[in-house]
Amino acid sequence: MSGRLVVVGGGQAAFALVAKLRALKDERPVTIVASEESLPYQRPPLSKKYLLREMTLDRLLYRPEAWYSEHDIDIRLSTTVTRIDRGSKHVALSDGSVLGYETLAFATGATPRRLPAPIGGDLAGVYVVRDFKDADLLAEEMQPGRRALVIGGGYIGLEAAAVARTCGMDVTVIEMADRILQRVASAATSAIVRGIHRSRGVDIREGMGLHRLIGDNGRVTAAELADGSTIAVDVVIVGIGIIANDALAHEAGLETANGIIVDSHGRTSDPAIFAMGDCAVLPWQGMRIRLESVQNAVDQAEAIAAILAGSSEPYDPKPWFWSDQYDVKLQIAGFGLGHDETLVRPGQREGSVSVWYFRQGKFIAVDAINDAKAYVTGKKLLEAGITPDRAKLADPDTDLKSLLA
Ligand SMILES: Cc1cc2nc3c(=O)[nH]c(=O)nc-3n(C[C@H](O)[C@H](O)[C@H](O)COP(=O)(O)OP(=O)(O)OC[C@H]3O[C@@H](n4cnc5c(N)ncnc54)[C@H](O)[C@@H]3O)c2cc1C
Repeated sequence: MSGRLVVVGGGQAAFALVAKLRALKDERPVTIVASEESLPYQRPPLSKKYLLREMTLDRLLYRPEAWYSEHDIDIRLSTTVTRIDRGSKHVALSDGSVLGYETLAFATGATPRRLPAPIGGDLAGVYVVRDFKDADLLAEEMQPGRRALVIGGGYIGLEAAAVARTCGMDVTVIEMADRILQRVASAATSAIVRGIHRSRGVDIREGMGLHRLIGDNGRVTAAELADGSTIAVDVVIVGIGIIANDALAHEAGLETANGIIVDSHGRTSDPAIFAMGDCAVLPWQGMRIRLESVQNAVDQAEAIAAILAGSSEPYDPKPWFWSDQYDVKLQIAGFGLGHDETLVRPGQREGSVSVWYFRQGKFIAVDAINDAKAYVTGKKLLEAGITPDRAKLADPDTDLKSLLA
């Protein structure tokens, strides 16, 4: 049996790592050090059904408490790793104890960017959504007739906007870039999603920054926008991106650059230390990227578990993602980064449509809106490395399955 594996962080990647390790019959001693008070849980519902109060925390847990003891996994909740001594291979914990390791794994995730205090970021009524406590506090505020301002038109902001609108709030979304979802999706997808929100009465203002939030008695009451206009608000939801939790790794002398740099086997610049999930920067097609998704957290963690158990197979990301807004399901396969062409294909049902991405003629990703067939076909085409014939793809009468032939 090998020496102890210490996992720093208790989220999606941490759980996937230890579950896979045990599934591979690797019985080394394992300790998870998790700063949150809950057992590992899923975050995606926090801006969807959990925020709508259609789910409770126990339904978000990957496994109940008994699973950890049955699998001989020591999990320390409400405990933070505060320092790493790579020389002696020890970590210091917030409860004053010290733990030795043979292998260390960073699964520390990321921290949401907040608005600075001088522009009102510290006022009551201003929220981010990263953990279940954030979602609990925000859910309390979601009451019919109240006014919500969402700052940032990325997936989390738009999902929160959909929940707020569903709760009967008046919702405004401001996005500083020219269009919502600019960082992650094509102009065609942005237009479809914009239409979905506008048809439900959300006021989406693109190319619009925030000047400052205005408060009364410490509580937000209004927002002054970059064009000089002022809008009254009761609640502000800030969805302006996340910052990888790499400070501990940096202090320990590991290579970092907006995340912990790893190789294709998930190893950091110290071969005894791995990093995975939102905190890791990995090599991909000659670039260094950080992927913020369940797919990456799980697949990278499982690849690292296999490596610990003796495999030499590198991690090759096969990105997929989803977002739920109202009754609309957006599913994405592939990675549209650097696309130079898109093709919009209407689906079979009303409201279903897909956007296909190409780079230098090669098919690289699909966004499927209420169109599971397009998603599944796109995923299979990507796996097989097939670029579909454009004319056939554009023809709504083409059976998508035939593109796989
Ligand atoms: C609201 C929301 C909605 C999302 N929706 C989707 C979606 O629809 N689809 C999708 O694919 N992805 C979605 N994501 C992203 C997805 O949840 C993340 O990519 C995933 O959780 C990353 O897993 P992780 O283990 O790397 O980090 P996390 O799950 O964030 O876990 C990291 C944990 O480590 C802890 N930690 C940090 N530092 C320390 C330390 N020093 N000591 C101990 N513990 C520490 C943190 O407190 C945290 O609990 C969503 C995320 C959020 C927040």
